[in-house]
Amino acid sequence: MEPDRTDDVTAHDVTARLAQVRERIAQACRDSERDPASVQLIAVSKTFGPEHIAPVIDAGQRLFGENRVQESAAKWPALRASHPDLELHLIGPLQTNKVREALALFDVIQTLDRPSLAAALAKELRREGAPPAPRLLVQVNTGEEPQKAGVAPGEIDAFLGTCREVHGLAIEGLMCIPPADEPAAPHFALLAKIAARHGLKTLSMGMSGDFETAITLGATHVRVGSAIFGGR
Ligand SMILES: *Cc1c(COP(=O)(O)O)cnc(C)c1O
Repeated sequence: MEPDRTDDVTAHDVTARLAQVRERIAQACRDSERDPASVQLIAVSKTFGPEHIAPVIDAGQRLFGENRVQESAAKWPALRASHPDLELHLIGPLQTNKVREALALFDVIQTLDRPSLAAALAKELRREGAPPAPRLLVQVNTGEEPQKAGVAPGEIDAFLGTCREVHGLAIEGLMCIPPADEPAAPHFALLAKIAARHGLKTLSMGMSGDFETAITLGATHVRVGSAIFGGR
């Protein structure tokens, strides 16, 4: 989509890299004695157009992640029309004024991160003719970085209570994006601990640089972009 990006990614490259990522996931599962079926790969296709995504779909990949509503609206409806079994995850921040559009596009919203968004989602889902509720994950700002979205670890219990009790939203799990300049493992361990405390089964953690570590620490979903699609 970005015309100035070095466009050296052929369908063959993408398919080979997808196979490598799947093998690395399988190896991480063997290393940690986990059932490979318990870890799902989300191919993060942000900035890549349908010509890059189509070969990945053809290679059997069904879960995709995008971080912008607008970009997704431009490329996914056509892809979904020809592949009804795709599952699309929103992994970037969601503005309350884009909630309706997001609900029309995404099966899973991984970035529920504040009470105003919970309220906006609940309100939209109560509307006459609203789509079915998406699966919802709460984003946790495990590194408590001021510039990063997500609920602070110390506020997560109250936030989950608000989602469930005030807004009637069922929360399936948690996601995090660890600080770029720190080892990721302690953040993954913290996310797993919070999820266990609340009986939440879904843990979205791990990207191209650290998904094996995330699997060792209990990830059920890894979000992998550049290791599949190449550099952005
Ligand atoms: C872009 C992105 C990813 C994928 O990152 P890579 O390092 O390219 O694998 C994962 N999660 C989120 C939230 C992202 O925005």
